[in-house]
Parts: sequence; structure tokens; C-alpha cells
Amino acid sequence: MNNLSTRDKIIIWHPFSQEKTAGMPLSIQSGKGAYLYDFEGKSYLDLISSWWVNLHGHAHPVIAEAIYQQALKLEHVIFSKITHEPAVVLCEKLQAILPHSLSRFFFSDNGSTAVESALKMAYQYWHNLGKAKTKFACFEGGYHGDTIGAMSVGKNSGYHDVFKPLLFEVITLPYPDTWIGDLSIEEREQQAYALIQDSLNKYHQDIAALILEPLIQGASGMRICRPEFLNKIITLAKSYGILIIFDEVMTGFGRTGTTFALDQLNAESVPDILCVAKGLTGGFLPLALTITSEKIYEVFLDDKLSKAFLHGHSYTANPLGCAAGIASLELLLSPETQQNIKNISQAHQEGLKLLQNLNSVTKIRQQGTISAFEMAEDKVKLIVSKLLDQGFLMRPLGNTLYMLPPYCVTATELMEGYDILEKMLKISCLSL
Ligand SMILES: *Cc1c(COP(=O)(O)O)cnc(C)c1O
Repeated sequence: MNNLSTRDKIIIWHPFSQEKTAGMPLSIQSGKGAYLYDFEGKSYLDLISSWWVNLHGHAHPVIAEAIYQQALKLEHVIFSKITHEPAVVLCEKLQAILPHSLSRFFFSDNGSTAVESALKMAYQYWHNLGKAKTKFACFEGGYHGDTIGAMSVGKNSGYHDVFKPLLFEVITLPYPDTWIGDLSIEEREQQAYALIQDSLNKYHQDIAALILEPLIQGASGMRICRPEFLNKIITLAKSYGILIIFDEVMTGFGRTGTTFALDQLNAESVPDILCVAKGLTGGFLPLALTITSEKIYEVFLDDKLSKAFLHGHSYTANPLGCAAGIASLELLLSPETQQNIKNISQAHQEGLKLLQNLNSVTKIRQQGTISAFEMAEDKVKLIVSKLLDQGFLMRPLGNTLYMLPPYCVTATELMEGYDILEKMLKISCLSL
């Protein structure tokens, strides 16, 4: 089967890749825990949780079994006017760990569709109330997915420049990102706040909602924002009556050190709409939720169909995905996983110390189980390909290198990653 890469090259078009220069894809045969294995049996430590989806390791037997058992019972059923146990149980379990006001659960099947649903929901909320609010506010660098609406509110993430003429108008707010030893953050936050105040003051009547990735922006380079700042902005936006949408597609399910990033913000900062996907099924199946309050839900209740939220996807609330979600959530909330999350956070702190005195590394930062730093972009690419040779799977975001491991990784395995990274960075410093 080792000609798989060749057969792939003939027939497949990969995501987020320049196919001309991408080279041969790595063929993966299996996965177990934090490791992936190729056809020669070589192992790769998955330091990016396979694009931020995996929580408890690959091929986890508990989740695999839950999916198998569900598949024997009911694989899928239309979700309009029909329900099933895995969907109801998953939402009940999530509601128990979310703020009380987030009590209505709308299913879709990936992060982008969760965001599209949120944007349409916010727009129609105002429409049903007889108000035409056609604009959305978002942060510079925010990324929310690759469908047209999600791209519109992620216009300035740098990913969608080609499509800009197709995207709807948004109000982009400055995002003061920070890092360890950042001395200018107070000043930059003040400047950002003043600009945001001006923007919201000017446009608030037209703004349906403000969408943001709380605490850390993922795709634009693991950019961290202080909770104090977010609390202030959310208070301000709420004072103008603007709805708040949290995109926790990446930050959800423990990544930031707490179950959700919103757990680290003030109780007053609870969003009106919350989007989750990626880790929802532990990384096994595509499933997403757009979660909102009774206040919003009730505005869609009417005798007329036109007031209803007429949105849905074929695989809405797929029972296999829901079964995986229930199993994954139980694993996540176990004392063992909660301890592992703390251990990863601590290991990052230790590991990052190894890098802090290297000249080639800047803007070191960490948020829970995620660590990141910056270096010259050409060097990042070189380091990533060398790390792969050594059996460590990482992927750069521009000139940012980051680690976002599954929670089953041990502190020792993570430190091996930092050790080799330090060695390579030292060598590549010398060779320049
Ligand atoms: C990945 C991501 C999305 C899009 O999710 P898909 O499942 O890839 O469509 C949306 N928002 C954030 C914050 C993400 O990280």
C-alpha cells in the first residue's frame, strides 16, 4: 500500500494546499493515542490534534465503541419533526456545563455552518422584531470558517482575500493581541478601546451582532487577548444592544484550560449565541452546535412559517456524531482528563522556558493547552519539515509555530517536542 501517496496525487485535491508545490502527502495507516502511524510503522506525535479536532487521542476505544453501538441501532434520521436519544442527551449534558442562559441547541455539521447559523439567527432575530440590522462587527484577524458568511466576518484574517468582492460588509474592530513580557499591552488596549467605542457609537444601530473567538484567535496565528479587555468590549457592545456571538469552534472543550473560554470571562459576558464544533465529537465525526438563549428562540415563535428559522443541513444532529459527542464529553469531564489538561499547561510553561532566550524566537505565549511563538516565515517551514522527519507533526500558521496537543499526551512526550525544537532552533540560528 505504499503507493498510496502516488494514487492520491493522481486523484485528490487537498484542502488549504498549493497542490503544485505541496509534494507527496504523507500516508497515514492508523492512529493510537497521541500518535499517528505511517505504512512503515513510523510514528508521528500529533502536536496539532489533527487541525484542532482531536481531544482524547486517535482511535479512542470508548468513542469508537459508542459510535459502533449507535450505528447498530440508528445511523441517521431526518431531524425535522423527529428526534432521537443521542441528540437530546448530548444537549442536556452540555447544558449542565454551560451558563444557564444558553439553553437552546441548534445542530449543524461543522464550524462554518455553526457560524452561518449564528449569523442568520442574529440577523433574523432583529428582522422578526421589525428591525433591519444588516451589519456585523468582528475583530481584525478573526477567522470563522470558509463559507461566504463566515468568510465575511473573517474578512481580515488574511485567508479570504480572493473572495473579498463577494463578501458582505462588516465593521472590523482592532484586536490587541499579547504575549509573555509584552510591555505595551495596556496602552494598545486603551487605543483599541477608543477606536472600538467610536465605531460602535457610529454604527450600532445597523449592527446585528459582534462575533469573536474568545481569549485566543486560532487561524490567524494563536493570538491571545486578555480577558479584561474582552469583558470591557462585550459590556460596551451589550450596552448598545448588539448581540454577542462567541465562536468557540477552536477554543471549546478544554483547549484554553477551562471547558469553554467563556468560563474565564465575567458572568456578564455570556454570549447570546455560542458556536461549537471541532472537539465536540472528540475529533471523530463532523458535528456542530449553535447554542442560544430562550430570549432569542422566542422571537422565532409565531403562527407564521416565515418567522421560523428556515435553515438546516442533511446530516443535522447525526446520531453517530451525537453518540461520539456524549462519549467524548464524559471523557473530558473525568478527573483524569482534567488533570492532564493542567499537566499540559504546566509542561508548556516549562517547555517555553527553553525557547525564551533564543534570538530567533519572539512573542512567546500560552493559553491553557495551547502554546505559540513567532519566527521568520522561511525558517518556520524548514523547522516543520525537519520536525516531521523526526516524528513530530506540527503545522505553521504564517510565521507562527504552535502546539495544540490532544489531552492524552504526556508531559514527557511534550517535553521531547520542546527539546528537539530547541536543538533545531539553535542549529538553524548558527547556520544563518
Ligand atoms: C476551524 C474553525 C472554524 C471553521 O470550522 P470548520 O469545521 O473547518 O468549518 C470556525 N471558527 C473557528 C474559530 C475555527 O477555528
